[in-house]
Amino acid sequence: MELKVAIVANKEELTIQVVYRLRRLLAQAGIPEDPLQPTIVISVGGDGTLLSAFHQYEAQLYQVRFIGVHTGHLGFYTDWRDYELAEMVASLQNEEIKSISYPLLEVKIGYANGKPKRRLLALNESTIKRGNRTMVADVYIKDELFERFRGDGLSISTPTGSTAYNKSVGGAVLHPSINAMQLAEIASLNNRVFRTLGSPIVISDNDWLQIKLQHSSDYQVTVDQLDIPQDQMDTICYRIAQERIRFVSTRHMHFWHRVKDAFIGDSEAHEI
Ligand code: NAP
Repeated sequence: MELKVAIVANKEELTIQVVYRLRRLLAQAGIPEDPLQPTIVISVGGDGTLLSAFHQYEAQLYQVRFIGVHTGHLGFYTDWRDYELAEMVASLQNEEIKSISYPLLEVKIGYANGKPKRRLLALNESTIKRGNRTMVADVYIKDELFERFRGDGLSISTPTGSTAYNKSVGGAVLHPSINAMQLAEIASLNNRVFRTLGSPIVISDNDWLQIKLQHSSDYQVTVDQLDIPQDQMDTICYRIAQERIRFVSTRHMHFWHRVKDAFIGDSEAHEI
């Protein structure tokens, strides 16, 4: 495979210096930059920067592999630290670069006004919320009504997104080798009258979710960090996408080690 690199970076001072060093190392290694038709996309910044890089190149997933350099702490999509650039560039020169791929979420939005359906891909999650009023929506699994949800909103996440917003709303952390999506409730109303399952559910890649919205005017739908304009959405369908995101995996960090590093640290070292 021909090596052609694109760099996506955030605007922080440290990142600007890292990108300068990275460009010098790539030039020394004879690896050209091609922001239009890259085969490798290097993201420099944080997990948020990798999300932006994914959306910038999502139409080219069939030919692109991603690699993340973190300018802060280690992230979930970023394997390399800013002081390891030389090692990272050298690893790209290996004859055969290994990859690892992760599931993506397909989001299909239907509109009440007859507008054609819109298809998007999420790397972390999609959320549906409704201003400061109670959101009412029917949740279907496949084509069967599962529950009527009332509350602040719903989050539907990928396994790699399970450590992001999903975790903040009480969802489980899912190993990214599991080809599934997770539905988590955001502050559901549960009393004698209204009832939802009240716990997150994990949905297999054979099934799909349909969320039928009760009011078609004031919803806020997100796909990763993108806000989707309302425009009378009435049904949103979620399933595991055919496409997957591929990462260069010249080094591999154990997923649970990463989770521990990000959320727990060394706290268990204290004697009981
Ligand atoms: P942001 O609000 O600037 O940053 C959100 C934080 O989430 C950053 O610290 C980011 O890490 C981290 N993050 C992103 N993807 C992650 C993942 N897969 N696992 C663990 N942490 C992750 O927003 P942003 O940088 O544009 O990222 C958008 C994402 O932020 C959304 O997809 C959503 O998941 C998340 N978010 C979370 C909350 C919440 O937990 N209450 C609220 C809003 C958005 P870095 O510092 O490495 O970039």
